[in-house]
Amino acid sequence: MRNDIVPALDSTSAPDVPAWSIANWLDDPTLPSFEVLDTRSAQGRLDVRAKTVTVRDLVLAHGHACDGLLRGVWALRALFDLAFADAPIDRSDLIVVSKNSPCLGDVAAYLTGARVRFGTHRLDNSLGVGFQLKQLSTARTWEVREEDGFFPDVIVAWEAALLDEVISESDKRELLAVHEAAQWDWVREQLFTSAPRDHYRARELTHLDLPAPLIEARRSDTVNRLVPAPATLTGPDDPTVRNPVADELTLASWRDRYEQGPT
Ligand SMILES: [Zn+2]
Repeated sequence: MRNDIVPALDSTSAPDVPAWSIANWLDDPTLPSFEVLDTRSAQGRLDVRAKTVTVRDLVLAHGHACDGLLRGVWALRALFDLAFADAPIDRSDLIVVSKNSPCLGDVAAYLTGARVRFGTHRLDNSLGVGFQLKQLSTARTWEVREEDGFFPDVIVAWEAALLDEVISESDKRELLAVHEAAQWDWVREQLFTSAPRDHYRARELTHLDLPAPLIEARRSDTVNRLVPAPATLTGPDDPTVRNPVADELTLASWRDRYEQGPT
């Protein structure tokens, strides 16, 4: 193993990544993580086995670590703790609303399975660092908001200013580095020393008017989510089927049925 490669937390299932791509203090199993469920395939039923999504996974998917990603992690951990307690997050059953932020939006989509292209990820910039959630199967709704003033106003002001053209390029060269340091100081000293519920307030809603979808297409890989496991067949690619009958005669009869075509 090259010394610039760090092993994955679970080296049996995750690829190695270059050490520079995530700081040691972010690649920490004590940070909040998320148990998630998904369907088994494009036409599959729900797989009841949960997977764990870590901050490391979110950083790799999003492309960089940033305060927005981590504030999103804290906010959604507080929201899921209220909504689902210890139960895993079913990513085939949720609509989420977030600000149209590159960072908060990616965290929302990754952890809920919601997607703009299916109309399940809706946008509302008035939410700031907050999210709304709807469970499709029950129609229950929740929201979470970051406590006012928790994130320092001076960093908010710099985040806005660094996107503006009023700062000279020569100043910006230095200030981007100063800003990055200030951001990580806050994350390590304020965010990481607090529990998600300390500054991210979640509550169940009695009513939620969802923003209109940008686009609404059928999400086909969740259509069969509630189809039960087969009663009589085993399958080498479906290790979740328990105690099936798997005699050759039964398998042959279902192969014959399949080869007749669907109609
Ligand atoms: Zn980001």
